[in-house]
Amino acid sequence: MMRQYELVDLVKRYNPRCDEALLDKAYVYGMMKHGPQKRASGDPYFSHPLEVAAILTEMRMDDATIATALLHDTIEDTDATKQEIEQKFGAEIAGLVESLTKLKKLDFVSKKTEQAENFRRLLLAVAADVRVLLVKLADRLHNMRTLHHMREDKRLRIAEETMEIYAPLAGRMGMQNIREELEDLSFRILQPEAYASIVGRLEQMREESKNLIPAIEQALTEKLGSDGIPAKVRGREKKPYSIFTKVQRKGLSLEQLSDIFGFRIVVESLHDCYHALGIVHTTWSMVPGRFKDYISTPKQNDYRSIHTTVVGPGRQRVELQIRTEEMHRFAEYGIAAHALYKDGDRISGGRNIVDLSQSSGAWAWLRETIERLNDPNLNPEEFLENTKLELFQDQVFCFTPKGKIIALPRGATPIDFAYAVHTDVGNTCVGAKINGRVRPVMTELANGDEVEVLTAKAQVPPAAWEQIAVTGRARAAIRRATRDAVRKQFGGLGRQILVRAFERAGKEFSETALAAAVGRLGHKQATEVLAAVGRGEIASEAVLRAVHPELFDAQGRQTQPRAATTGEGWFDTSSVSGVMKFRVPDGGSDDRTSIPIRGLSGDLPVRFAPAGGAVPGDRIVGILTPGEGITIYPIQSPALKEFDEEPSRWLDVRWDIDPNSPSRFPARIAINSLNEPGSLAQISQVIAENDGNIDNIKMIPKAADFHEIIIDLEVWDLKHLTRIIHQLRAKPIISSAVRVNG
Ligand code: MN
Repeated sequence: MMRQYELVDLVKRYNPRCDEALLDKAYVYGMMKHGPQKRASGDPYFSHPLEVAAILTEMRMDDATIATALLHDTIEDTDATKQEIEQKFGAEIAGLVESLTKLKKLDFVSKKTEQAENFRRLLLAVAADVRVLLVKLADRLHNMRTLHHMREDKRLRIAEETMEIYAPLAGRMGMQNIREELEDLSFRILQPEAYASIVGRLEQMREESKNLIPAIEQALTEKLGSDGIPAKVRGREKKPYSIFTKVQRKGLSLEQLSDIFGFRIVVESLHDCYHALGIVHTTWSMVPGRFKDYISTPKQNDYRSIHTTVVGPGRQRVELQIRTEEMHRFAEYGIAAHALYKDGDRISGGRNIVDLSQSSGAWAWLRETIERLNDPNLNPEEFLENTKLELFQDQVFCFTPKGKIIALPRGATPIDFAYAVHTDVGNTCVGAKINGRVRPVMTELANGDEVEVLTAKAQVPPAAWEQIAVTGRARAAIRRATRDAVRKQFGGLGRQILVRAFERAGKEFSETALAAAVGRLGHKQATEVLAAVGRGEIASEAVLRAVHPELFDAQGRQTQPRAATTGEGWFDTSSVSGVMKFRVPDGGSDDRTSIPIRGLSGDLPVRFAPAGGAVPGDRIVGILTPGEGITIYPIQSPALKEFDEEPSRWLDVRWDIDPNSPSRFPARIAINSLNEPGSLAQISQVIAENDGNIDNIKMIPKAADFHEIIIDLEVWDLKHLTRIIHQLRAKPIISSAVRVNG
């Protein structure tokens, strides 16, 4: 365990005027309070706050933060109180320790709601004092480093939370070192096999290119030095997790992995960065498409550097980052470098985040995120989801036609833009102009785009937009809007079903009567019941019974016989344990066995698509037409294209065939055949020999020697149909035979 003076030495290295007495007092107090407590590893408990403090000295934090780190678990885990800490260390440190204690109470929770609440509290605490976040990240880092002593279930939960929230949060705050280490430690626990295979491959490559790093370091340093640029060149191996994401993203195999080394060239001035770049590019050939200047346009987390890749010494591809010492420190420590120190002078900590400099992207993001917490309608879970999405991404800045800036995550579309302006704008959006030209709504927005949202009243956002949108805000709003629209649609359908069912029983349907009976159906509102009937979740008979119990006898049987179904090609449907049976509604074949389809129940009228219906074995979907019913299509049917923009009408259905009572289904095939005597006879013979029933044949002359023959036939299933088509193709007179879907 680190000694008292060793910690003080670490602080003195960057802050010679530190308050040594304060640090000593905090060390002694923390050690006394934790006393003989042990960690899961068997180490004295106090080793943990001590290591957390040491991590914070790497970020060059102020005395109050270091003292807070030493005390951060005392209120929670010992008999220490806030009052006592305030007496001994003052209100500032006591406040910080208390904030961390409140966060700890909610730490490592499994439930999403609690995790969301925890995250909200973290941001609120950060709003009051950003040092809470820095101590929290250091605390998490040390816990992750020592996680192998934990129980496995707990370990997985902590690693997951770290990967989802703390690592990206550290990245967003510009703290690359901490982000990388948190990612790697979590990755190792969450995907041990992937981790092991990458580490194995790295070892192999390291062996193959043993002296490469020093050789390249030397070549670069010498070349730059001889041109008058003093530079520190450091090679480093990429971390397993960043290699893993790259392999995933590019679909590479581990064998294809080539550049696992990156080099940093740290120079003395901004001017030297570009000078060094020029030298590198004239000495070695650059790899096209890899040059990025994050100095002139810094990343959203304030990261600045020049990136390029060259075919370097030894014909090896070499990734380079060129930056100054100051940029380097910010790249490693992010807001920790920004917040508390400037040009080596200490700025007092504990500032309210709202006062912090506008010029920093990381701060601006944090401030905006915290401001959103003030929304009285905030749902913590949605907030966490939204924020998580943003944490993982860089941002683009776009403009409204009036010049207002809208910040969006990279990859955002005009849909996200519309919702960022206002939910109503998003909900009525029908298209967009980007820089004055109409563009598809899935266009990815670029920095500086001016976006004009085109709107139309009474428009419902297509549900498919939820997949296109990038921001959590847009996704949540689209889901809400489509949910409402679908509920309305199903409600309308449910009402028509009930009107008919009540009519059959000789009653008139009224919503007032239904409202009085909703409790018996397990709902609170009549509209919910209507939608449930429309969706097939409640059978119309159940509603009839709830509203008119007098029509049923003690066994629940309807005492008056139901009127026979009449109607326009529709057919009676009745629900049998969740399976819907129905008849194909065409004339003349009333004896056809009913077809079971799963996924529907209740009173929805169901029919096949008119041309080229589905046969068992086809993947099928149901399309809902409010007020009419459901039409079953095979998924390859071109007619489905018409419903592409209305995903809310699509229903998942599947076959539920009883093998003991098979039945035939209509299908259509198109044949191109030679126009010679007896050709039709040959075709019918093939179909008959293969047990197919021909319903109808239509011949269309195509050319002198050919005609097309459309055959409607009945088959048992897809396999049967496919066999017939194959047999037809085998005939020399037939040049093609294909199935047709209308
Ligand atoms: Mn702790």
